[in-house]
Amino acid sequence: MRKLSKFAAAVMTAAMSAMLLTGCGGSAETSSGADAQTTPAADAAATQESAASGETAAAEATAATGEYGEDVQAIIDRGVLRVGVKNAVVGFGFQDTVTGEYSGMEISIAEKIAESLGVDIEFTTVTAATRTELLDSGDIDCVLATFTITDERKESWDFSTPYYTDYVSVLVENSSGITSLADLVDKKVGVSSGSTSARSLTSAMIDAGLISGDGFDAETFDAALWNEGVSFQQYDDYPAISTALSAGEIDAFCVDKSILAIYNTDGRSYIEEQFSPQEYGVATTKGSDFSAYVDGLITEWLSDGTIDGFIAENNLQ
Ligand code: GLU
Repeated sequence: MRKLSKFAAAVMTAAMSAMLLTGCGGSAETSSGADAQTTPAADAAATQESAASGETAAAEATAATGEYGEDVQAIIDRGVLRVGVKNAVVGFGFQDTVTGEYSGMEISIAEKIAESLGVDIEFTTVTAATRTELLDSGDIDCVLATFTITDERKESWDFSTPYYTDYVSVLVENSSGITSLADLVDKKVGVSSGSTSARSLTSAMIDAGLISGDGFDAETFDAALWNEGVSFQQYDDYPAISTALSAGEIDAFCVDKSILAIYNTDGRSYIEEQFSPQEYGVATTKGSDFSAYVDGLITEWLSDGTIDGFIAENNLQ
């Protein structure tokens, strides 16, 4: 009970911040290399504590040569780890609009990676649409932004072992009368560009026997073109989808439950179903030696309880 009410309070605070932001004409999910924030990686005690585990993982990742690979060394030489994170996903990546501070399990993991490297950290807010561009351009070293590991994405970027599994669901206005997947037949659903959401929803509706699935191919699926039994409107960020839902431009808002939580305000509800497990991983440049370094750390923190600790601290399940 205590867990639930704490989480509800966090969501309410976050929702109020999001409303303030949108009320000012801003966006809680706007991408910007300009709003990057650098903070010391940790206080001395925390640095010392994680240096030990970081050294272990680093030793594993560099066992072959006995020294850091050139990509890891470049980050150490720069003295700053640059990380793409979300700014409106409570418990994962959330930025306080007053203090500018980021918090959440993805923030904690990123800070711990920086500690193990002995460098400072710089956060850049990313969206589903911008996170890979910023990684590809070299503006950031890694992405910890509710980024689902998929086979297609693995062709373009490296992903660590998953650190969290979420599920996709759908948020609606209670006044719509929509309560289940079945009610979404022939409806228009808002999704973020660059997300897995439209494909996940279409696939769930096909699996439930609600739509035929003729012409559905998971590999080539395009949300902009699909209109067999459900259709999609794509937006650049989540506040825009929430506004469109209120305005009745769309019938429903589909994405991972972690992301939907902040928009589940009075008069709105999730449909009954959740589907399509989303495994979140740390994304890095394909072929980078930093990928092995990060995976060594994540694997270690999964087995030693560090990640479970972050999940508990953020009242996640
Ligand atoms: N996790 C999903 C994805 O990676 C939803 C989009 C998002 O993370 O913003 O596509």
